[in-house]
Amino acid sequence: MNYSVRKKNKIVKYIVIHYTGMKTLKLAYRKLSDIGSNVSAHYLISRKGIILNLLCPKYKAWHAGKSKWRNEININDYSIGIELENKGHNFGYTNYSNKQYESLKKLIFFLKRNFSISDRNIIFHSDIAPNRKKDPGEKFFIKKIGISRFDYKKKGKNNYTINKMLNLYGFHKSYIKQYKKFCIMSVKRSLNYSKINPSQSKKFYYDFYNLLFN
Ligand SMILES: [Zn+2]
Repeated sequence: MNYSVRKKNKIVKYIVIHYTGMKTLKLAYRKLSDIGSNVSAHYLISRKGIILNLLCPKYKAWHAGKSKWRNEININDYSIGIELENKGHNFGYTNYSNKQYESLKKLIFFLKRNFSISDRNIIFHSDIAPNRKKDPGEKFFIKKIGISRFDYKKKGKNNYTINKMLNLYGFHKSYIKQYKKFCIMSVKRSLNYSKINPSQSKKFYYDFYNLLFN
């Protein structure tokens, strides 16, 4: 099991949701607990809804990799990583099971209370590494676990630029600059679009605006 000690000044404030992206649960379990793999996570939820606690959240797991979110880098320092069993985009991406959503909902409820984590700090791997990662992907419906990540209030006319909205979504400045197309694709995954491409249609602008603002 790979892990590090958390630094005292880096408190847990995020939950990062992933998929395993492996052919079987067994392979995923093995990889996440293998010291040679260079990865680990705190929790793994099987398609049957079984929650495996692989590492105590007081320790740092290695799930996010090179990552940035808002003004922070290396999100492992501040987060708890939850892996959902799913073959992923490379091996046959499927819908998440209802049992997975039920278990994830319970686990997140528990973690939110214990670590005082707000809904807007429940984030996706694809948000914090949009140029590298697609998980949990467009088939993950966060509403099914009763979370609404964005609660900006509408102010006047909706004349926000795409860049401003990407910033409000939470992408790190450098990602918006370097990887804007990937950021847009990441938002489309959040919106559960079936086609993920970097095009910016009026419909996308409208959907994006409605995702952020209440
Ligand atoms: Zn991931």
